[in-house]
Amino acid sequence: MRVFDLHCDTLTTCKRKGWDLENEGSHLRLSDAEGYDAYIQLYAIFIPDEIRGERAGQYFSIHHLYYRRQLEQAAGRMADIAARRSLHAAQNKRGVMSSILAVEGGCVLGGDLDMVQVLANAGVRSLTLTWNGENELAGGAASDGGLSDFGREAIRELERLHIAVDVSHLNDRSFYDVLEAAEKPVIATHSNSRALCAHRRNLTDEMFRMIASRGGLVGLNFCRDFLAEDGDVTLDTLARHVEHFLELGGEDTIALGSDYDGADIPACIDRPAKLRDFYDRLIERGLTQEQADKLFFLNACRYFDRLIAGEL
Ligand SMILES: [Zn+2]
Repeated sequence: MRVFDLHCDTLTTCKRKGWDLENEGSHLRLSDAEGYDAYIQLYAIFIPDEIRGERAGQYFSIHHLYYRRQLEQAAGRMADIAARRSLHAAQNKRGVMSSILAVEGGCVLGGDLDMVQVLANAGVRSLTLTWNGENELAGGAASDGGLSDFGREAIRELERLHIAVDVSHLNDRSFYDVLEAAEKPVIATHSNSRALCAHRRNLTDEMFRMIASRGGLVGLNFCRDFLAEDGDVTLDTLARHVEHFLELGGEDTIALGSDYDGADIPACIDRPAKLRDFYDRLIERGLTQEQADKLFFLNACRYFDRLIAGEL
């Protein structure tokens, strides 16, 4: 069984706690890859909304240094795969955590377009344009602003440098602005269905269809509050979001976006080892193996394989 996860906050959380990426306390650990035929993980550097200007770039650099050190220290158990031209080798790398660097929070740019090239040089392959507040690019889920002129320029630059535009966390107005401005497929790394759980962080059916029709991805988020309004979550709750996305024609769009180490995650799925139970539950409920494999690995792999090959 293979796993491709579009979002976790493990890097930022472990750095803050003074832990290594292999440790006793986090949801996601490097050794979790040992149970799977392949494990590809986007590690996000989360930039808080209040860190602005050049300080945001410094914040990124310090976390990037931590990431590089972790890679050196865990050589053989963890490998950054973003610099490759193909994900082929990583698709069959049993026991190794294959990592791709991402940034959550467009304030990392500090309003300077050249920072996009800095991110590309550092191996970043996905940028979540906002967190919940407003920044130089756009408005997040807890704010009102739309996409700015700078945000429009940033999208052009991200697309030129083959960095995925992540629309998770945007408010509705910014979402539609971004979909209009973007020329390439966008991804929502960690968002669920608003039809099933009416949270502003989730996607309406229309939003999901727009992402799907352009060949993008939507990663299923394990955060309790984005799965069920009453907070009562079982594997069936997670499955219902997947099934709803399938009903919208999302078979080639669905992916995983765990949000490990960044959210309150229910016990049924709070460790990567439990992904197997989720996979089995989906099959029991009637998903085909092909559909489950697309959710767990194949769709995200297809997208990022094209991205790093320079086709997206
Ligand atoms: Zn997030």
